[in-house]
Amino acid sequence: MSGLSLNGVTKQFGPFTAVDDVALTVPHGTFVCMLGPSGCGKTTLLRMIAGLDTPTSGAIVLDGEDITRVPTHKRNLGMVFQSLALFPHLTVGENIAYPLRIRGVAREAQARRVEELLSLIHLPGYADRPVNKLSGGQRQRVAIARALAISPKLFLLDEPLSALDAKLREAMQVELRKLQQQLGITTIVVTHDQREAMTMADTVVVMNGGKIRQAASPIEIYRKPADRFVADFIGSTNLLPLTVESGRTLVLGQPVEGIAAPGQTACSLSVRPEDIHLSAPGAGRLSGRVTFIRDLGGTIETFVDVRGTELIAVSTPRERPVVSVGQEVGVIIDPQTAVVLAA
Ligand code: ATP
Repeated sequence: MSGLSLNGVTKQFGPFTAVDDVALTVPHGTFVCMLGPSGCGKTTLLRMIAGLDTPTSGAIVLDGEDITRVPTHKRNLGMVFQSLALFPHLTVGENIAYPLRIRGVAREAQARRVEELLSLIHLPGYADRPVNKLSGGQRQRVAIARALAISPKLFLLDEPLSALDAKLREAMQVELRKLQQQLGITTIVVTHDQREAMTMADTVVVMNGGKIRQAASPIEIYRKPADRFVADFIGSTNLLPLTVESGRTLVLGQPVEGIAAPGQTACSLSVRPEDIHLSAPGAGRLSGRVTFIRDLGGTIETFVDVRGTELIAVSTPRERPVVSVGQEVGVIIDPQTAVVLAA
C-alpha cells in the first residue's frame, strides 16, 4: 500500500510505556492530526515515525518498505519541529535551499526551487531577506518551505503553530491545509489544539495513555465519539448518567422520550450543548432550573441545574431561549444527536 502503516508500535522508557501497541494506516496524500492531552505519547509516536526514536516493538512501513530501523536522513522526510529553528544568520533563500545544498543540488536548480517554494508560501521575492527581519508567521512559513524543499514522501510537524498568537494560528491552519492539498503530500501533525485538528485533518487520531482511543474524520469524532474520553476531550459535551429501570431509559433519573435502552444498565449519555433545547416544563423532558446565562454575543450559554447536575445549552442569538435565571425549564434532548457511551 502507498502511504504509512504503523503495526503494533510500542515504545517503553524503562518500565514506562509511552506508546502502547499503536496500529494506524495513513493512506498516501492524507492529512492526519494526532491529538491528545500532554503526556499521551503523541510526540514519541511522531519521533518514531521520524526515526528520532526506535520502537521497542512493532513496525513502521512507508510505501511498502519497513523503515523501522532506517536512519532519519534516509527516510526522505520533511520535518517542522518546534525545536528545529531557522538559521538566524542566513537569508530566507539560504534557509530554504539548505537541505538542497547539503545534498549537492546544483546552484541554479536550488534557486529555481527556492522561487517555486516562496511563491507556494506566498512570500515571492523574499529570498534575500534576513530571516530575523520576518514576522512569526512568515518565519513559520519559511520553516515549512525548507522542510518541503527536498519534496519529501512524508511531512511531519510537531506543534508547528503553537508559538503564534491565536488569530495568526487560525489563518496558518487554513494555509497549511491548502498547501497540503495542493501538494497532495502525506502529512502528520501533532497538536494539543482540537480546533486546529478539526480545521486541518482528514483523520483525527485521539490518543490517551499511549493508546489510540479513536481515529476518524473530524466530524465523526465530534458526532460519534467512541468513548467518554473522546466525547469530553473534543469540544464540550454534557455527560449525563443514563440508567435502565424496568425497561425504561432514565436520564438523570428522569424518563426521556426517544432514547433507546442500551445493553448495559448504567451508561452515560453524551449530548453536545448545541443539541440541548430549552422549553416550558413538560412530560418526556427533563426539568431543571436556570442557574446562569453567559451571553458571548455570537452564542448564548444557558446553565441549567437538573437534580444537582449542571447542563449547558448553547444557542445563537436568533434562537435565544426566552428564559431567565431562577426559572423552571424543560430540557429537550434530541435523541438523534445524543450518543450512549459505556460508563
Ligand atoms: P506533550 O503534549 O506534553 O508534548 P506528548 O503527548 O507529546 O505530550 P510525549 O512527549 O510523547 O507526550 O511523552 C509521553 C510520555 O513519555 C510522557 O509521560 C513522557 O514523560 C515520557 N517520555 C517521553 N520521552 C521520554 C524519555 N526520553 N525518557 C523517559 N520518558 C519519556
